[in-house]
Amino acid sequence: MRVLVVEDDSLLGDALQVGLRQAGFVPDWITDGIGAEHALATTEYGAMVLDIGLPRRSGLEVLARMRAAGNRLPVLILTARDTVGDRIAGLDAGADDYLVKPFAMGELTARLRALARRSEGRSQPALQVAGVTLDPAAHTVSFEGAPIELSAKEFTLLRVFMQNAGRVLSRAQLEEQLYGWDDETGSNTVEVFIHHLRRKFGRDLIRTVRGVGYLMPRESA
Ligand code: CA
Repeated sequence: MRVLVVEDDSLLGDALQVGLRQAGFVPDWITDGIGAEHALATTEYGAMVLDIGLPRRSGLEVLARMRAAGNRLPVLILTARDTVGDRIAGLDAGADDYLVKPFAMGELTARLRALARRSEGRSQPALQVAGVTLDPAAHTVSFEGAPIELSAKEFTLLRVFMQNAGRVLSRAQLEEQLYGWDDETGSNTVEVFIHHLRRKFGRDLIRTVRGVGYLMPRESA
């Protein structure tokens, strides 16, 4: 899941990027409120981690403006200790959750998974489609009960297909979910990862829709 991180503290921003990557998220890091709005306008995210005290436009303003514009992206705000007023204002402005600094990275990633689960309307932590079970927290995948080993990118790509089962996804949409701004993207890499997934799960897991993109059917063939 691609996550927008908005944090002006460089040490914390760095740590957030590293921690999110390790937990299988694809983070983009922005250090001010105006930059955050540009990123939201141009990239499709699954969640945002938003600091309140930011240069150029505060986190609260960014949040209030995006909610006023109808953007329902799950948002977790980061607030300083002893600022209960910020927390209340953040929740009232449309935040879905908050963490008080300093926080444990494991708690942040668990809360993001919970937000993603809620926004996808799932009550169970694991995704299940066409015989494939993917557990985002444990980072495990099984196919018809047997565990399958996947690389980090294969896991991310499979998760995107499972979240969108029954929908055709273009190569550009897949690339957007697979790579953050700082990632190197080679040509044909989406095709290569799809090839790997088909080798591990069988050819019918992901169908090619000529001229349009790729589709994971809801039911196995
Ligand atoms: Ca700050």
